[in-house]
Amino acid sequence: MKHTANPVALFWLALVALLSVNQANADAAVIRWFQDAGQLSNIDEVLAREPDRWQSIDAGRGLNLGFSDSTYWIQVVVAPESENQVLEISYPLLDEVDLFWVLNGRVIRSYETGDARPFSNRPVDHRNFVFPVPSNTEPITAYVRVKTQGAVQVPVEVETAAEFLAGEQLSYGWQTMFLGIIVALALYNLFLFAIIRQPTYLWYVLTVVLSGLVHLHFKGILFQWLWPELPGLNRYVTIPLTGLTMIAALVFSLQFLAVSRYSKASYRFLQVLMVGAGIGIVIGAFGAYQTAITLVAVLAAIATPAAWFIGIYVWSRGQRLAGIYVLAWAPLLLGHLILAVSKLGYLPTTFLTEFGPQIGVAVEVILLSFALAYRINLERQRRLRAQERALGIQRQANQTLEERVRERTEELERANRRLEAISLTDGLTQVANRRQFDGRLKEEWCRVGRQGLPISLLLLDIDYFKSVNDRYGHLVGDDCLIIVAAICANEIQRSGDLLARYGGEEFAVLLPATPAEGAERVAERLRQAVENATVYPGAQEAAVSLSVSIGVATVVPTQDESSGELIRRADAALYGAKGAGRNRVMTYRGLRTVSAGDQ
Ligand code: GH3
Ligand code: MG
Ligand code: MG
Repeated sequence: MKHTANPVALFWLALVALLSVNQANADAAVIRWFQDAGQLSNIDEVLAREPDRWQSIDAGRGLNLGFSDSTYWIQVVVAPESENQVLEISYPLLDEVDLFWVLNGRVIRSYETGDARPFSNRPVDHRNFVFPVPSNTEPITAYVRVKTQGAVQVPVEVETAAEFLAGEQLSYGWQTMFLGIIVALALYNLFLFAIIRQPTYLWYVLTVVLSGLVHLHFKGILFQWLWPELPGLNRYVTIPLTGLTMIAALVFSLQFLAVSRYSKASYRFLQVLMVGAGIGIVIGAFGAYQTAITLVAVLAAIATPAAWFIGIYVWSRGQRLAGIYVLAWAPLLLGHLILAVSKLGYLPTTFLTEFGPQIGVAVEVILLSFALAYRINLERQRRLRAQERALGIQRQANQTLEERVRERTEELERANRRLEAISLTDGLTQVANRRQFDGRLKEEWCRVGRQGLPISLLLLDIDYFKSVNDRYGHLVGDDCLIIVAAICANEIQRSGDLLARYGGEEFAVLLPATPAEGAERVAERLRQAVENATVYPGAQEAAVSLSVSIGVATVVPTQDESSGELIRRADAALYGAKGAGRNRVMTYRGLRTVSAGDQ
């Protein structure tokens, strides 16, 4: 824990330095005291007491005797001063504070005050015990009887009324500023809670409000403002307020640091402290006050540093927010430590014991409020990262989807191409079908026409095919068709030429950019190929001899003629070939058809 060594060292250094600062008390008064174990003595017995049995207090030190329910007597000799003076006891939680002004051995004025008595008993309406000094011409002695169930702290100060007023301005200014900080932070974080709905914020608000109340209570302000004529309540305020503050602060710490995630033992330990505080509250309400206040003070003195060290531990385990917590907790720790230690009577009352705890609380709540705001930022970043991750996943999904769609589209295109090929091919002979032939004829007709070139068409019909069917059966006929198609396909090799099954046992051969002579040559080649082929269709043992008749037509397409003219002419030529005896090629020439052999 390299980075934590420095704060710890700094903390103890600061503590030692601060505690050694002592309030310079320019008091001219001489203060002495004694503890009245018998608790029976009245002012007359005290006045009759031997002067040497009084213990004197170091100049500038308030009386601080820890928790004790004995009766204490304090003697303050006030020197005469031309201005009006006051005697102030600035620890407002003392139960009974009786003051007797004694001049020349006689009590000239007395007051019965304390927070167990109504506020109206006080000569000055002030949160502390303030008594006007009755004489400014002769030395006068105050005898103060103090009896309390809490800490016996009797910070006595005698000062001129003017000094008192000046000090009071500063002190009250600080108190209202403290109150302002508490109220502002509590409200701000309450609103945050209302929006964010995370219990940590509510525990923070509770901690802030309760510790604010504790400190205002220790300053006597709650009694003065809220229930000045109900002193009986005071006995039931200190312990519950302190205990509940501790519990709220520990719950907040547990949640804020997520202690259970880092250390089960620490979690248990803080829980035990909370239970202890709860027990302290119950004892305070129904049992021995002294026991309860000691218990709560000791627990608070343990809880604050414990929470701080747990914060350091969690911080060292990588929780960033814990760093701010440790920082925020340090002044509080200091303040609480001072408060607890001073309550136990080990510290004199000084400026630091007066205001240190409140300063600590103020700094703590401000820093923690910052930490909570910072937490919002961290959570926002976390959310942003999660969003980005989700977006990435979505993008990935989209990409996968797009790829799938592309694959499917390609598959579909392939299937379409296959379908198209099927739709353009004759199922039996696997050459182009009539549909493809019609399409190509139109295309080539236009293309060739644009170039002013001739286009030729052969129409080929198998001779006496009906008798093949009749003799050998339809299946053998089909085989013959397949064989004739294959023979023709073998001859039609030039790219651009198209062999198609035109219908039944008729085939068409389209020869773009081919003049009549070329077409006739191709036709003759086909005729001979079929004639010379030895065809054993199907399971046939004997060869079947086949022949074809071919009609040839050639046209140079013009605007006025349609491609149907080419078919008509080829058909006419075919008809001529059949009529001329079959197994021959005939070419359409004008109105007559010419046999290949005639030329
Ligand atoms: P010719 O052409 O020499 O005048 O005599 P032909 O017997 O071939 O007469 P035509 O062309 O008029 O007869 C066509 C016959 O072809 C009719 C039918 O029996 C047969 N045919 C048509 N299509 C098919 C087919 O897909 N399979 C089979 N096996 N026979 C077919
Ligand atoms: Mg026919
Ligand atoms: Mg025929």
